[in-house]
Amino acid sequence: MSEVAAAIAAIQGAITRAEADSGRVAGSTTLVAVSKTHDAPVIRPFLQAGLRVFGENRVQEAKGKWPQLQAEFPGIELHLIGPLQTNKVRDAVALFDVIETIDRPKLARALADEIQRSGKAPRCLIQVNIGREPQKAGVDPDQTQVLVDLCRREYDLPISGLMCIPPAEGDPVPHFRHLAALAQAAGLAEVSMGMSGDFPQAIACGATHVRVGSALFGNRQYHQ
Ligand SMILES: *Cc1c(COP(=O)(O)O)cnc(C)c1O
Repeated sequence: MSEVAAAIAAIQGAITRAEADSGRVAGSTTLVAVSKTHDAPVIRPFLQAGLRVFGENRVQEAKGKWPQLQAEFPGIELHLIGPLQTNKVRDAVALFDVIETIDRPKLARALADEIQRSGKAPRCLIQVNIGREPQKAGVDPDQTQVLVDLCRREYDLPISGLMCIPPAEGDPVPHFRHLAALAQAAGLAEVSMGMSGDFPQAIACGATHVRVGSALFGNRQYHQ
């Protein structure tokens, strides 16, 4: 088995175990391979090994490598997992299949307008600042339902789930539980949470999407 195939199998195995341990349906968690900072030649073997769901955190960086990869490999689902400025909305809608980081009405409105204009409709998730950290993006947990309702009623922007990045320090489990509860209360099916260090716990708490970077690709040259 190649190194890449082994890395994928290790993560998929851990996902399957976490699903079984928590009584979840096998295959109910999607692995989002976070390829940020890695160039196309590093990503290509993961596509050749069969992965199709990837995450990037910068529109500009993704624009530089993914159109070519999308042309080479059919069926890619590309997730935007980093902050989105309204002036990048056009590029983001053109490139991404899922936008996980809606966190304010102005952005929701700009996305709704661009979806209307382009006829291309990525799936949309709302990012929740689950630890209420001042330096982090995301809507306040208490404002989540308000933003979901606004997107649905005012902007006709369908929201399919919630996403969070818990505080780097401390136990993420209470935050994972909180996000899952917010999603359930809002009637949202998708819950994106869990990274290389904590994805099994996130699955136990109900994650439908785990975003795994360094455990698949190795350490990044720079952190963002
Ligand atoms: C980089 C990143 C990840 C992946 O982090 P790892 O610890 O490398 O698995 C997940 N989610 C977001 C939003 C990220 O920016």
